[in-house]
Amino acid sequence: MTTTAVINIASLVTNDPSLGNGTPLGLIRDAAVVIEGDRVVWTGESSKAPATDNAVDAGGRAVIPGFVDSHSHLLFAGDRTEEFNARMSGVPYTAGGIRTTVAATRAASDDELAANVSRYLAEAVRQGTTTFETKSGYGLTVEDEARALRIAADHTEEVTYLGAHVVPPDYADDPAGYVALVTGPMLDACAPYARWIDVFCEKGAFDGDQARAILTAGRAKGLHPRIHANQLGHGPGVQLAVELDAASADHCTHLTDADVDALGQGDTVATLLPGAEFSTRATWPDARRILDAGATVALSTDCNPGSSFTSSMPFCIALAVRDMGMTPDEALWSATAGGAAALRRTDIGGITPGTRADLVLLDAPSHVHLAYRPGVPLVSAVWQRGQRVL
Ligand SMILES: [Zn+2]
Repeated sequence: MTTTAVINIASLVTNDPSLGNGTPLGLIRDAAVVIEGDRVVWTGESSKAPATDNAVDAGGRAVIPGFVDSHSHLLFAGDRTEEFNARMSGVPYTAGGIRTTVAATRAASDDELAANVSRYLAEAVRQGTTTFETKSGYGLTVEDEARALRIAADHTEEVTYLGAHVVPPDYADDPAGYVALVTGPMLDACAPYARWIDVFCEKGAFDGDQARAILTAGRAKGLHPRIHANQLGHGPGVQLAVELDAASADHCTHLTDADVDALGQGDTVATLLPGAEFSTRATWPDARRILDAGATVALSTDCNPGSSFTSSMPFCIALAVRDMGMTPDEALWSATAGGAAALRRTDIGGITPGTRADLVLLDAPSHVHLAYRPGVPLVSAVWQRGQRVL
């Protein structure tokens, strides 16, 4: 196999605290990375790099791990421009807006859904994302949920069954009947395509008992739990996530002290989604409070047509630093290694020997510029599984 060295890197984020400056980012100055096939095989100071077949000169710029976007909803059709416009003109957001996208998604062809996923994925790669998770949740029938996951599985191994996104209008008078569907025939049809099961545990969606039943049923079929928790108000989601050893509790915007303590003591990652608060003009999650409790924090886009229509991890980093109390180092870690932790992965989210060769070359001397220069397209090159894709 041919080897390629990326040399003359001003600052390299490895996310290995045993390397470089000894911080969680494991920052190495004047660094090089050697790629062989789809893996990183060497990381260190440029002057000590081994001989390779090819070399790419980073030109004194920064290299970071590819972003791990551990929370998106890309299986949808249509958009919600008018809802956004209304909300920004003073109408509060409610979970019911999901139903608009459900109608459009059910009406779309397989090809239309697949083209939509490809389009937003390409958009994400251009902004440095090399791994993404995505969910169903806009079909809400056995057939529509299963086809969403089948299409998603063509694009990523991180596929999440979210039949429990909202109770669809056809079951408005029979939510228990819908939970029975989600935990019965729909689960049977969806489990073969999914790694994860998720539930929107929120007033207006599913309560704690329903969420527990849904996640427990999924676990019995070999799916691992994750939860949309405590986005719009306080609720049982976060503590249920920790209790069930969910990989992630996502949103975590409204937390009691007991919720924060649970996150600090459990293995569940708190995934913060600042695009949602930005796009709904809602209260920011307090990342500082969660980090200070010792919890692991991930940052993700929540890319979806209703409440966070951004595929940009750099944008989320800038928001997290500006408005959620994170340092630039913490935000970068959470958008890479944190996302990997939220997917219970150790082969991505860092740049050390053995990790997948997912690298981003920034048109900047330091990762700090992602927050320091918000809105500027700083992603200059992307390697995914060792292949240069941008
Ligand atoms: Zn979401």
